[in-house]
Amino acid sequence: MFRKKSRRLKIRKNRIWPTALLFLLMSAALFVVMLITGSVFISYLLDTKLSDSFETLNTMQKVWTDKGDKDPEHMSEFNMDCFILNNEGKTELMIGSDTCIRSASAEFSSVLQPDKEYLIYGDTESEVLVPEKGELEFKLTKFLSEVGRYLDENKDASIFTTGINSDNTIPNGSINIPIWISTGLSDGSGTIYARTVVSFNVNYVFAIIRIVLIVIVIYLVIFVLMLINVISNLRARNKLARQFYKDVTTGGNNRAYFFAKGEPAVRGRGNAKKRYAVLSIKLMNYLSFCVCHSVSEGEKLICRIYDTVNSKLARRELAAHFDSADFAALLAVNSDGELTARLGTLTEALESADSDHRLDFHIGAYMIDVQTDGSGRIKRRKELDLEECYNNAFAARESLPESGGSAYAFFDAKLVEEQKWTDTVVERQQRALESEEFVVYYQPKYDPRTDELRGAEALIRWQSPELGFITPYRFIPIFERNGFITEIDHYMLTHVAVEQKRWLDQGIHCVPVSVNISRAHFIEENLAEQIRDTVDSVGTPHGLIEIELTESAFFDDKQLMIETITRLKSYGFTVSMDDFGSGYSSLNSLKDMPLDVLKLDAEFFRGENCDGRDRIVVAEAIRLARSLNMRTVAEGVEVREQVDFLAEQECDMIQGYYYAKPMPKEEFEARLEVKEQ
Ligand code: C2E
Ligand code: CA
Ligand code: CA
Repeated sequence: MFRKKSRRLKIRKNRIWPTALLFLLMSAALFVVMLITGSVFISYLLDTKLSDSFETLNTMQKVWTDKGDKDPEHMSEFNMDCFILNNEGKTELMIGSDTCIRSASAEFSSVLQPDKEYLIYGDTESEVLVPEKGELEFKLTKFLSEVGRYLDENKDASIFTTGINSDNTIPNGSINIPIWISTGLSDGSGTIYARTVVSFNVNYVFAIIRIVLIVIVIYLVIFVLMLINVISNLRARNKLARQFYKDVTTGGNNRAYFFAKGEPAVRGRGNAKKRYAVLSIKLMNYLSFCVCHSVSEGEKLICRIYDTVNSKLARRELAAHFDSADFAALLAVNSDGELTARLGTLTEALESADSDHRLDFHIGAYMIDVQTDGSGRIKRRKELDLEECYNNAFAARESLPESGGSAYAFFDAKLVEEQKWTDTVVERQQRALESEEFVVYYQPKYDPRTDELRGAEALIRWQSPELGFITPYRFIPIFERNGFITEIDHYMLTHVAVEQKRWLDQGIHCVPVSVNISRAHFIEENLAEQIRDTVDSVGTPHGLIEIELTESAFFDDKQLMIETITRLKSYGFTVSMDDFGSGYSSLNSLKDMPLDVLKLDAEFFRGENCDGRDRIVVAEAIRLARSLNMRTVAEGVEVREQVDFLAEQECDMIQGYYYAKPMPKEEFEARLEVKEQ
């Protein structure tokens, strides 16, 4: 009845955009990486190309700083075009290509003072310098004439030259990129700038451009292919998700959708203060509808019901068709009262979903309340399991009685406890049987007129090592539902037969012991033979075994029942009707059943009424039984007055606490021995 929580498959409906965006971001990152690699490569290239130029600039810087240094080594290192700025950024001296004169004066003509020394540097090979031709020539001419004049006048002056490049050729077939490079003077008095040229071979440059273009094209192709792949994957996935969540019969939402969509909604932060109700809805007469009409008509009906449920939903509420005639809904409701009202209208609408037939529905409801923390603040239902909520609604629905039209029920926590207990019992039943955890108790039956022990009823107890001592009311109904009762009854019959045989063999005077046989057995045609064979396999005389059949068993297959009783009697067993008076057609059954004993239900002897009308009924029942040649046993007799009354009415036996409660076999054996003395 109560489904265990199952693992749920979920397919998330993916939107294209987040994934595509992610892809774009990744592409951008890749592009940036490529850009960085490219620029590192280019700067590496430039560095190698410019290393000579920087070296020269550094030498210049050294020369400039070490004023007065005449070391010709510097001159040989220094080979570029330059100009020199002071700290204010003013040009102190500018000399054309490949020449630099160390001086403090701005005017070239005044630089060459007769009493001073000049260092003149030059380089005839430099390719890195791009002289501005006109100016260079002019300055060089001027410079050389000045130098010449100076040398003429000052024969002792030291002038060092390493050569002057007046013919700075730019290599042909190359691409030249002019670049300014600079370095600060180490004494902080200025900055030296130099203009240099980076030249690349044209063929080499074109080859690089071609490679870069090919890489870009390949990248773009891969990018487009990946994009197409991502988009088509996402579309396929979304299509799959739509199919996964689609109910085949109605074309609407299915079970997976209900949980996948409903759970995040109920858990959501924005919905924490809302109350929800989960409904489990079942069309009760679906199978008979299909049998009467057809399965396809039935499916059409299911579609109409699904539409009806949907038509009763507000925005953001949810409905789904689970399977067969089962539906689920998630409603947003403020109170139990509102839920009751909505259940009323929903049931009404559902009942008239088909104009030609009256439909019955069972609805179970489970309320999801607002959750609060210790300080009363509303908190999110982060841990909520919607499937568990649905199971609770389902359990509530299943608790409704089968017949009686449409109905709805609210979930009650007791239902879960009951279900847990049932699961525990079912889980352990077989092992308990095999390890003989079921124990036979005997409740003696006494003759109220003589107080003599006349018989007993075998009643089961479960002595479980884990669960303790359990009374039959807690497990017999479960075994009756799941069919395990047939094993139990066989177990009890065998144990009673064995005990009776043992007592008999020990010379103890035995009394008939009755064994309960559940109605579940009455589908077996050879029940009487099975009982006979079981008892015979032990070797117990049939007269010591009595078979108790509950009144409810008499409603099933009456003919089979009569035959079974007749055969049991023919084998020498006593047959009794248990709980007489608790049902409705007892009298009717008595008419046809060849029974030996009538057990009057304990209800007759309970409560305050037992000295009034009940007494009349009991007296008449005993009289009736006697006239039908049946003996009577009164059950549940607890007080002396009742015993006296029953003795007066000539009731044959009393089985009740007044005489004895059900007891273990040792105690019962002691009573048998007393009787024998
Ligand atoms: P039952 O067959 O009607 O058994 C009589 C029940 O009434 C027993 O409960 C017994 O302890 C109780 N009873 C007897 N006298 C008094 C009394 O004076 N006052 C009160 N308050 N109760 C009294 P128990 O043993 O708990 O069994 C309950 C039910 O469980 C039984 O009702 C029977 O229907 C079922 N059951 C017990 N053992 C078996 C079994 O071996 N097989 C089957 N199929 N059912 C069994
Ligand atoms: Ca009984
Ligand atoms: Ca009974």
